[in-house]
Amino acid sequence: MTGIDIDGTSVEVPEGASLLSAVRAVGIELPSLCHDDRLSPAGSCRTCLVRADGRIVAACVTPAVAGACVETGTDDLQLLRRDAVELIASALPPRALAADSGSELAQACRSLGIGPCAAQGNGGRGGDESHPYVHLDRDLCIACGRCVRMCSEVQGTFALTLTGRGADTVVAPGTGGPWAESDCVACGGCVDTCPTGAITEPGPGRGLTSGNRPAAGLTRTTCGYCGVGCSLEVTTRNGEVSAVLPSRDGPVNQGHACVKGRFAHGYLTSPERLTRPLLRQRDGRMEPVGWDEALDHIARGLRAAVDAGGPDAVAAISSARATNEENYLIQKFMRVAIGSNNIDNCSRLCHSPSAAGLAASFGLPGGTDSFDNVERADCLLVVGANPVEAHPVVGARLLQRVLHGARLVVADPRAVGLALHADVHLRPRPGTNVALFHGLAHVLLTEGLTDGNFLRERATGLPELAELLADYPPDRVADITGVPATDLIAAARLYGRAEHPAIVYGLGVTEHLHGTDGVRALSNLAILRGAVGTDLGYGVNPLRGQNNVQGASDMGALPDVLPGYRKVTDPAARSRAEELWGAPVPQQPGMRIPEMFAAARGGELRALWIVGEDVCATDPDTQRVTQALATCPLVVCNELFLSETARHADVVLPVASWLEKDGTFVNFDRRFQRVRAAVSPPGEARTDFAAVHALASALGVDLGCPTPAAALAECARLTPLFAGLSHDRLDRENAVPWPCPGPDRPGEATLYRRRFATADGRAHLAAAPYLPPGEQPDEAYPLVLVTGRRWAHYNSGSMTRRGGNLGLDPADHLDLHPDDAARYGVRDGQQVTVESRHGRARLVARIGRETAPGQVFCSFHFPASGVNRLTSDHADTVTSCPEYKVTAVRVAAP
Ligand code: SF4
Repeated sequence: MTGIDIDGTSVEVPEGASLLSAVRAVGIELPSLCHDDRLSPAGSCRTCLVRADGRIVAACVTPAVAGACVETGTDDLQLLRRDAVELIASALPPRALAADSGSELAQACRSLGIGPCAAQGNGGRGGDESHPYVHLDRDLCIACGRCVRMCSEVQGTFALTLTGRGADTVVAPGTGGPWAESDCVACGGCVDTCPTGAITEPGPGRGLTSGNRPAAGLTRTTCGYCGVGCSLEVTTRNGEVSAVLPSRDGPVNQGHACVKGRFAHGYLTSPERLTRPLLRQRDGRMEPVGWDEALDHIARGLRAAVDAGGPDAVAAISSARATNEENYLIQKFMRVAIGSNNIDNCSRLCHSPSAAGLAASFGLPGGTDSFDNVERADCLLVVGANPVEAHPVVGARLLQRVLHGARLVVADPRAVGLALHADVHLRPRPGTNVALFHGLAHVLLTEGLTDGNFLRERATGLPELAELLADYPPDRVADITGVPATDLIAAARLYGRAEHPAIVYGLGVTEHLHGTDGVRALSNLAILRGAVGTDLGYGVNPLRGQNNVQGASDMGALPDVLPGYRKVTDPAARSRAEELWGAPVPQQPGMRIPEMFAAARGGELRALWIVGEDVCATDPDTQRVTQALATCPLVVCNELFLSETARHADVVLPVASWLEKDGTFVNFDRRFQRVRAAVSPPGEARTDFAAVHALASALGVDLGCPTPAAALAECARLTPLFAGLSHDRLDRENAVPWPCPGPDRPGEATLYRRRFATADGRAHLAAAPYLPPGEQPDEAYPLVLVTGRRWAHYNSGSMTRRGGNLGLDPADHLDLHPDDAARYGVRDGQQVTVESRHGRARLVARIGRETAPGQVFCSFHFPASGVNRLTSDHADTVTSCPEYKVTAVRVAAP
């Protein structure tokens, strides 16, 4: 710490802190129009002048030096600062200082006694309102450059620049045209930092930033889109969301957000929101009914199902979008009220191989480290993930690490996002990950880039793995994967020689026929390096797709485990739950999602409750899913909208979205964070929590835990892993990672420091051979389709297609390489038909070099395009996670 004197008051600040931080630390506010704590200091506006040891300096760019004497309040300094601010304001038109302006500049003027008449500019520079979320008023731009720095230093998009000279300098998109056609990804960073209101969000949130947000009436919550878990602050007006601002102290996002969390809340007030339960009538029509009638119908259907086929004739698919407390209650409903373990959630479709693979390698089914540790990484190995689009805030932080010198290896078939900044970009053929990871491990082993002590003392399985790896020399791996041997060796050396190597991966590792093997083979690399459970590295960390996909599994919404991953086959685990729940817990594991659909088609499953998942759009081979729903006598669906799945339901219950409910989510690095209702759900819509209780009551069952807080408290009593968690604690501490063994114990952000959580306390190397994917291209289907996400949309798009994001990305596109486009006679922008062995989809072609020849890529954000009619029912041999990443297809232009 550094001790200095500010106006006679001593203060200690961290080494390297600026004088501005020191001045603020003693409670003195100075104007600082070009400064934002999230950015590097610029010192250009000269509004924060102080006197340090006799010299007048800009406080934001002057380091606090031990023993310095700083003056801030002398008349001359006050006059200098006032003149600097007044000079800036004088060039702006009068509206810059309007009485209702909450901009930083207007507030600074008010506090310095500068009246509105100081703004005397004529304006006339015009604006840009081409973008749905970011509007530019050039007349209010003071060329402070904060927006430009935010775009480069935090977001890493480099979409903005300052153009013009002298007094005419103004911000502009770097591409030169309208904002909507620029590289802007609408993270909202420029809006949030602009001190004058030159860049604003249109609509009721206009002019609001995380710096000038109102002190009262804010609701702090956690983003309900991806698994990053950004902390957000929601302002409301007349009962509706007016703006969503990033929390400056958000543990993961640190004052940043993305286009989804920041802006995509228009769906809340969509006229298509469901506001009353819908019940299918005898003639097939869906009619609105009251809750009592809907619940009565469901209860009768559930009883009939149990009478006909026993408790296992009923199943439920819980939701990665629902809160932990809702997931806890749904699995309890199935086990207590129905008497079946037929409960699963959509982690089955994405990261179930992560849970299985990480648990087998290290002991626990979660990422090994806190994301904070990535700040120390000097080599990032990013595998099968495009975080820049799918997890934008993590993507931005990873990119900043690279821009600050970390080496980067990307392993992904596509040349997008971080791959454009990679030292080495490995582009394996889809479905060949295991061979690729074995090839990297082979180089680590043969070049002595392993940690012998760690392997001896903390790992098992080296002899078996070494024997297997002898079959994976770089040349052979190059034949299997298509990755040149030289690139493979270069990548292994970067990872192997780094002081602090980090592995981050995504669904490109898991959604394969051998996804669990992929996770384990990837984990081998960290074990070989001794870069997990030590101070060395950032272990092995999956980027979770949906907001609460980690939490849904943590809460036991799985067919084989109770909350906290205790096996249903374990008598001790069952008996603890039975004691707490006062009801027997079935001991046979229940059905996984694909088994549920198969049982429905086969007539054994007679009732299926689907909570917040659009399985007819997102699950593979959707024609067979639809067939399953059509066959099942009772299908109940909790939904915001009449989704594809809801259209096939017998009863649809209207439910609340993440901005309308209370509870907690668990993000990708195992942090519990609070979710709070900012607004009420529309009409008669209820939270999933209330809907589960209501249905239990209709069956005459009291599930206990009447509130979300009580549900988490009960879960904590049941589960040692979560024993220290409660809403009260999270309200105080904002975020607590699991494992958290007691209320007075901290959560364990970085795992396995002393021992791994396996039975023998060691990390387990896996010696699984490479096996080919379920599908291979052939003459009839010569291309390999890979599916994934686009930056503006989320999952089936039910929320992001209803609002401004639709304008940013209005359709599902099929990306294909120019060589393939020429071969199949496809023009850019043309409607094409894509056919696989399983079905057909219609997409708009987009020709580019992001995809390799022989591969095509698309998302499934627009159910109408029918992408998941194409995907197969091949699934991970361990977890049944679908092989979304490898489907043989052909493309035809009409
Ligand atoms: Fe929400 Fe993910 Fe975007 Fe953060 S990065 S705002 S969690 S969608």
